[in-house]
Amino acid sequence: MEYKHILANKMDLQNKIEKLLPNYNCGSCGFNSCKAFATHIIKNNTDIENCPLLNQYQYTDNKKCLKQLVKTQSKTEDCSACISGLLDSYEADIVLLPLPNEHSCKEVLLPMSDIFVKTGNIIEYRPLGCPVVHYARVLAKNGTLITVHVVGPSFKKKSVDVGLCMVIGFEGTYTGKQVKVGETVRFLPQNCMMQKIHSGVVINIEDNKIKLEGIDLKVWAPPVKVN
Ligand code: SF4
Repeated sequence: MEYKHILANKMDLQNKIEKLLPNYNCGSCGFNSCKAFATHIIKNNTDIENCPLLNQYQYTDNKKCLKQLVKTQSKTEDCSACISGLLDSYEADIVLLPLPNEHSCKEVLLPMSDIFVKTGNIIEYRPLGCPVVHYARVLAKNGTLITVHVVGPSFKKKSVDVGLCMVIGFEGTYTGKQVKVGETVRFLPQNCMMQKIHSGVVINIEDNKIKLEGIDLKVWAPPVKVN
C-alpha cells in the first residue's frame, strides 16, 4: 500500500538522520534529544544549523550528508497528501503507529455489554461503526473502560466475546502533518484492517507520542470557505 511505502521511507529517513546527528542529546537545538530533533527535521524541514555541534570539524561529512538528505526530502511529495484510506479515499493528516516496543496502537474501549473481562484476556469485539470483528489483548481496566492492543484473528479460539464496543481513544506515535492539542484530525491507525480513515481530537502530544479521543469513523468533507 502506498502509505506503507511512504511510511517506510519516512522511517528510513528518520533512522538515517538520527545516525548522522551527534547523539549528545545536549538540548542546544531546542529539543531534549537528537531523536526528537530528527523527527522535527522530517516534519517541519527544520534547519539543521539549529544543532551547533554539527559545526565541529569531526561532523563535517555528517553535516554535508544531512543537508543532502533534507534537500531530497523537501523535494519529495508531502507525506500528508499521500495518506489516504483504501475504503473511502479520504486523506488523513497523520498515520498512527505503535508506541516504542509495542506491536499495535493502544485503544481504549467502552464495551456495550457487562461481560466480565480481566487484564490479560483476549477479547473479540466489533468497534461501533466498523463491520470488522477485532481481537485484542486487555492491558488495563479503568472502571468500565478497557485498554487493549489489537492482535490477529489467530487468537479467536482463546477469546471472550464482548460484542459491540465504542472506541473512546487511541494512543501511539505518529507521522504526517504537524498537529496541535485540541485539533480534530483525520488519522489512519496503521493496523486498521479496512485501512479506513478515522477522526479524533488530539488530547496530548509529547515528542511524537500522541493521544486521541472522541474517535469517530464518520469523516466529514472539509468545510467550504465562503468569501
Ligand atoms: S543540539 Fe545536536 S547534539 Fe544536541 S540534542 Fe540537538 S541534535 Fe542532538
